[in-house]
Amino acid sequence: MRAVVFKGSHQVAVENVDNSRIEQPGDAVVKITSTAICGSDLHMYDGRTDMQPGTVLGHENMGVVQEVGPGVTSIKVGDRVVLPFNIGCGFCYNCLRGFSSDCLTVNQQGPHAAYGYANMGPFKGGQAEYLRVPYADYNALKLPGTPGDQWEDDFVLLADIWPTAWHGTELAGVAPGSTVAVYGAGPVGILAVYSAVMRGASEVYCVDREPGRLEKARQAGGIPINLTEGDPVEQIMTMRKQDTATQATLRPGEEKMTGVMHGVEAVGYEAVSDSDPNKENSTQPLEDLIRLVNPTGQIGIVGVYMAQDPGAADEQAKKGVFPVSLGQAFAKGLRIGMGQCPVKRYNEYLRDFIIAGKAKPSFMISHRLPLGDAPGAYQQFDKRGSEYIKVILKPAMAAAG
Ligand code: NAD
Ligand code: ZN
Repeated sequence: MRAVVFKGSHQVAVENVDNSRIEQPGDAVVKITSTAICGSDLHMYDGRTDMQPGTVLGHENMGVVQEVGPGVTSIKVGDRVVLPFNIGCGFCYNCLRGFSSDCLTVNQQGPHAAYGYANMGPFKGGQAEYLRVPYADYNALKLPGTPGDQWEDDFVLLADIWPTAWHGTELAGVAPGSTVAVYGAGPVGILAVYSAVMRGASEVYCVDREPGRLEKARQAGGIPINLTEGDPVEQIMTMRKQDTATQATLRPGEEKMTGVMHGVEAVGYEAVSDSDPNKENSTQPLEDLIRLVNPTGQIGIVGVYMAQDPGAADEQAKKGVFPVSLGQAFAKGLRIGMGQCPVKRYNEYLRDFIIAGKAKPSFMISHRLPLGDAPGAYQQFDKRGSEYIKVILKPAMAAAG
């Protein structure tokens, strides 16, 4: 089968690899119809993980069941499914408590498993014609419709980024009336804005440096803040202070709550510095959020911070040590949650929003390309610019072309 293979820093190639096949009774093999490139893939592409060359990439996968093992009971050949990027067993201590992101049995090396990802087990990714899905009964989410229909590009976003974005708003405690700041207007940030709006937030700011990405955040219902136009924290606080209607409602002392109550970090450790957007400053979004979120507020971190980053500039970051203003966060009594998204906690009801016509997250997709275009697409998406915002690869398009 054809697949996108990681060759080393800034190198991927489309090559023939061994076919994905049933290895365990609970496995399914899925014929991929859509598979997305993620900002998380870029950490590997950028040489910022210890990913082994030769690995097939791709953890945002959907398609049609091609074959099932003898132990599979709830899905059958021909079913349309989307696969959470995390692989869980469904029976361990963590899976049973809803942390499919921290399965204790699937990956022998540690408490996470995913397709085609550094340190997440030996599982081939789905940027390929076929994908092996372990514990298919637990992991596959059934979908209505047929490949290529009006839902295809919405459903593929259920594999990772929409649930992840939703998880960011969950960790941040976003509820009706919330004031929210989302850092990052990549695919995750844009959909975090979208999710916050769906959850009833009253004000949602979105910070990035790319006008095209900020425009998508605006379409999602966000107020765009360009960090190249000055300290984003000051920009948001000033905007709020100038909002005379809100100011008129303040109770005594409330003028001290100059920021927002909820923050989502959707950038990760390749963040740039506010003062020099050409320089990396991994903790910039988090530092900003600690300043911006009001006392007693909440922050959800879904941007990735790697425990091993061989490509980092300093010794601490190489070991995943990131100094932050913990004292200020403590003084404000902030609640901070973080980590990989347990996709299964959200993907069913997010799917049902799509089916009911209540959500159409595919508005932020910028490119639909054949598998063979993956090398160019990685190179372009890696610029994190205004043009390549979200790329979906279509293996059948490659076959036709
Ligand atoms: P992306 O790289 O396309 O987007 C990141 C955005 O952040 C870019 O638009 C960039 O311009 C912006 N940015 C950089 N520095 C900034 C700063 N200081 N302030 C504000 N914005 C800044 O990636 P994405 O696909 O949107 O993913 C975002 C992050 O979420 C990545 O770290 C990715 O690995 C992570 N992620 C986590 C999970 C999870 O389960 N927790 C799942 C998927 C993705
Ligand atoms: Zn992803």
